[in-house]
Amino acid sequence: MRLSKMHLKTLREVPNEAEIPSHILLLRTGMIRKLVSGVYGFMPLGWRSIRKIEDIIRQEMDQAGGQEIHMSAVQPAELWEESGRWFAYGPELWRLKDRNGRDFCLGPTHEEIFTDIIRSDVSSYRQLPLNLYQIQTKYRDEARPRFGLMRSREFIMKDAYSFDRDQAGLDRSYEEMYAAYEKIFTRCGLTFRPVEADTGAIGGSNSHEFTALSEVGESEIAYCEKCQMAATVERAECVDAPASSAEELPLEEVHTPGTKTIEEVADFLGIGQDETIKALLFVTYDEEEKENGYVAAFVRGDRELNMTKLINALKIPEHSIEFADEEKMGAATGCVGGFTGPTRLHDCTIVVDSELPGLRNLCAGACKTDYHLKNVNYGRDYKADIITDIKTLKEGDPCPVCGAPIKHARGIEVGQVFKLGTKYSESMGATYKDENQKEQPIVMGCYGIGVTRTLAAVVEQHHDENGIIWPMSVAPYHAIITVMKPDDQTQADLAEHIYNELAAAGVEVLLDDRKERPGVKFKDADLLGIPVRITVGRGAADKTIEYKLRRDADKEEISADEGIARTIEIVNKEK
Ligand SMILES: [Zn+2]
Repeated sequence: MRLSKMHLKTLREVPNEAEIPSHILLLRTGMIRKLVSGVYGFMPLGWRSIRKIEDIIRQEMDQAGGQEIHMSAVQPAELWEESGRWFAYGPELWRLKDRNGRDFCLGPTHEEIFTDIIRSDVSSYRQLPLNLYQIQTKYRDEARPRFGLMRSREFIMKDAYSFDRDQAGLDRSYEEMYAAYEKIFTRCGLTFRPVEADTGAIGGSNSHEFTALSEVGESEIAYCEKCQMAATVERAECVDAPASSAEELPLEEVHTPGTKTIEEVADFLGIGQDETIKALLFVTYDEEEKENGYVAAFVRGDRELNMTKLINALKIPEHSIEFADEEKMGAATGCVGGFTGPTRLHDCTIVVDSELPGLRNLCAGACKTDYHLKNVNYGRDYKADIITDIKTLKEGDPCPVCGAPIKHARGIEVGQVFKLGTKYSESMGATYKDENQKEQPIVMGCYGIGVTRTLAAVVEQHHDENGIIWPMSVAPYHAIITVMKPDDQTQADLAEHIYNELAAAGVEVLLDDRKERPGVKFKDADLLGIPVRITVGRGAADKTIEYKLRRDADKEEISADEGIARTIEIVNKEK
């Protein structure tokens, strides 16, 4: 491809709304183009890289026994009502009506559609197992789209669904997909980590998230350097503090004026924050978005509440709970903002973290302005509706597996795999007849990869202050030939010769034959990040060129023939 003919518009300035490197660089290289907030189009170079990522995914999915299909992005509401997700998915589901008022959505995921196909097409155990996938545009009506392709409202995803006869079959399918994902992300040039994850709005029993490590990532992971433990912070289990054998002291009301926070009350009473109970107050909503109850959650004072664990404990969708108006909740339940404890509360769901019942003589709010209670003990002084782990595993906390101090890291979620089990097949009636002619629910798994987000993650991990540094495998082109003076016939002829030789050998090559100053061309070549750069300049008369890899600082003067040979070799090795 000749740059003089290519539709390419690079930007010198950093666009205002772009905050992170991938967003800035994908806009500056002209690879993506914003249409409206969270919705992007792809220009020639960007689309080539997207297609390379898709090709890698297709090859590995096919290798693992997947069969590609393509379903519509438009999905009828009826199927989502059957699975119970028309409500559960919440406001991120992009809903629309047709001219007759019938409800549809633009699919953020396709469990319902694939389950619907399978329930009509599969009837016998002989037809299982099966793995179907698609690479398709998905929609999520994000409240705050940001970071370019990282959190967008329209995005390209690969989603695969496995259908098995039983749990053992699902375990095998899951392992195959897990292994395929490791190959895919490795081939894309990503440094990543598979971590245990929450199943969220997709549901099911087990899940792993594939996280590309990056400081700008929105996924926070907890991991252990001593053992294999690695999980999203949302999911990571927490070790309870050891139970106390101290004697229960008498409950005592103490005057603690103005001490609204845990820090203030602990300082005031001269006790540790780990000797207090922290309260967090919520209101929940029903399907009509009407308030339908209050929730008080309690963790040890020095802990942090884990919202995902609380939502899972309550078995409600993420969007149906928010912080309560304390005054309103106080009138209904007896809580008092800043002075709420688990005693003296009524008419609300009390969720208590699993370690609190084992601890003795804690300090908690007295549900009375400017007062706390000392020596609060579970059983004697308060009871819970739910007792479970609702605390966050923090950096430095003991590893739940081996006890070593936990570390945190940030990353970009580029893929996630789920063991769905029979969640969808049971709610939607997808069954097969086993060897004994007995109806059994089909056991399902689902497996997603964010294609556009993977592109952004690659840029996050491969760039410098001058631009992108593409790994060969997903680079829009393998090599770029920069001609210093295209009007100089010797230079033009040599460049043309190299261009033809490389193209004939299967190298995807760009020829920068634009009538621009050399400085502009070099800047653009660095910005675009094409892995191999060959510069044809004054040495053309002696058939020498300058050879440079984008990832290295060194450049070398070598003969054109050697430059061609080296380029072909490195491209074949790394593409
Ligand atoms: Zn460990």
